[in-house]
Amino acid sequence: MYYFPPKVLANVEIPSDNTTGAAQTNRRYARMAISFFAVDPVQVERALRAVQERQGRGENVDFLTALTAAKILSKSQAEHLRLEKAPADQAEEDASRRRPTKFDPAAGAPAGDLTRIGPYRILRRLGAGGMGAVYLGFDGAGNRQVALKILSAEQAPKQNILQRFQREGRHGALLVHPNIVRTFGAAQDAETGLHFIVLEYVEGITALDLLDRAGKLQIGDALHIILDIARALEHAHKSQIIHRDIKPGNILVTPSGLAKLSDLGLAKRRDDPASLTHATQGIGTPYYMPYEQAMNAKMADERSDIYALGATLYHLLTGEVPFPGESSLEIVEKKAVGVFRRASEINTEIPVTLDEILTRMLARDPASRYQTASDVIVDLERSHLAAKIPSFVQIDSALQDPVVVERLTSPVETTQPDLQLQSAAQAKKAREQQIWFLRYRDPRGNLVKAKGSAANVLERIKNGTIPANAEASLSAQGKFKPLGQWPEFQTGLAAATSREPEEKANPAEAWAERSGRGRWLWLAVAAAGIGAVGLVLTTVFLWVWN
Ligand code: AMP
Repeated sequence: MYYFPPKVLANVEIPSDNTTGAAQTNRRYARMAISFFAVDPVQVERALRAVQERQGRGENVDFLTALTAAKILSKSQAEHLRLEKAPADQAEEDASRRRPTKFDPAAGAPAGDLTRIGPYRILRRLGAGGMGAVYLGFDGAGNRQVALKILSAEQAPKQNILQRFQREGRHGALLVHPNIVRTFGAAQDAETGLHFIVLEYVEGITALDLLDRAGKLQIGDALHIILDIARALEHAHKSQIIHRDIKPGNILVTPSGLAKLSDLGLAKRRDDPASLTHATQGIGTPYYMPYEQAMNAKMADERSDIYALGATLYHLLTGEVPFPGESSLEIVEKKAVGVFRRASEINTEIPVTLDEILTRMLARDPASRYQTASDVIVDLERSHLAAKIPSFVQIDSALQDPVVVERLTSPVETTQPDLQLQSAAQAKKAREQQIWFLRYRDPRGNLVKAKGSAANVLERIKNGTIPANAEASLSAQGKFKPLGQWPEFQTGLAAATSREPEEKANPAEAWAERSGRGRWLWLAVAAAGIGAVGLVLTTVFLWVWN
């Protein structure tokens, strides 16, 4: 869950030769406190500095006791850390990947020779996170390999950790997307009582592994990965999930070159009022999380994930994080200012377009960032810089993956704004084709019913054959509302009103008056006609008489 990238912190986190054993232990406990209990890294760092100063003066101070005194950890959390061994370093990690079937208690996994959990056979250990370890398993019923994330027996009794683990399973189940590691389910093993999450097994390496191997990635490869993760975020955000821990170590890259977002351990649902973090805690990884999240994890929203994606892109492109520092405090202080070196100063191959994209992703103020992952996708695609197939991938393997093939052969993928535009256009078309039912009173007060398309109604409003106080509905028995209350007719009505000021301010009155004037005109014509006939008859009568 929370590990400093070994490359970046090589001269920082791994204590130098002259570092005392106590300082090493303190630093390790600091990491574990942040990783296991998601406490505020800034507070931990402050406490660490204070304790080291006192120890430097020869005082006998215990760091874990200091953390409890400062109310950063509870007593039981401190005790837990005392019993827990430190997260494995990279060499141990590599060795453990090669280890066959046995569990490694040092990684927080259950002790003993567990070969099954639930209905799954355990094959080997894949890695370790803050809450436990991940194993390769075999799902006999589905005849497939799966990854089994098992909550360590030591962590399970802690309600907040257990709840977070269960939440990770629930959040994961909501997300089905080719760029997100699939969660098949979560359960508790009846025999051992161990909690576990069943995940899609991703045979691949993390983006952090790629960085460790190469120092930095080719521009096309980095953008390919980031574009995939932006698609993952677009889907997660649409499902109201904020990841809150985007970083190279949480991106798995398949042999076919698909990047998949993993580890929803810190994710939150946007609409979930319950939170496992206290308001002042900043959780996530200091190098990648934005300032607002460092101050208060509850402040994290979609734009915080976009920032962390930007920090990840920066790291992949330059081999450095945008805000390096020797402590969480130093990093956060730099983020408060928000100024970072342009990526193109470090890697001169980086074009201006990418510098601009990074500036928007890494803006200090969330309002100045890209507001949605879809906007990031649009700009990344427009840059045409992402490799279709990354250079580190065998083309044959890539072409065996149906998702990769589909992406290669289909035109540009649809982003959320595209989808919204499409559905808005479809809705507009449907509205245009819809029949409106009208009712109004004619000048004599008789109720008139009529119907027609919106265009038809607008035409009749325009030529004055429908009064402005007519009511309309989308069904004969539906709820009738005045025309002016339907957005479809508001502009037409306004135009009709503005054309008739010399006649009547109110088009209804104008219509009635126009109809009334017509009646008088007819009466006048009729009277004139009768008068003319009378005149002719009188003339004839007088002529005959004489
Ligand atoms: P996590 O606890 O999610 O940080 O996972 C710890 C490590 O386990 C990762 O760094 C990966 O090396 C490995 N891992 C996690 N999930 C998977 C997966 N679905 N497939 C393969 N390896 C995984």
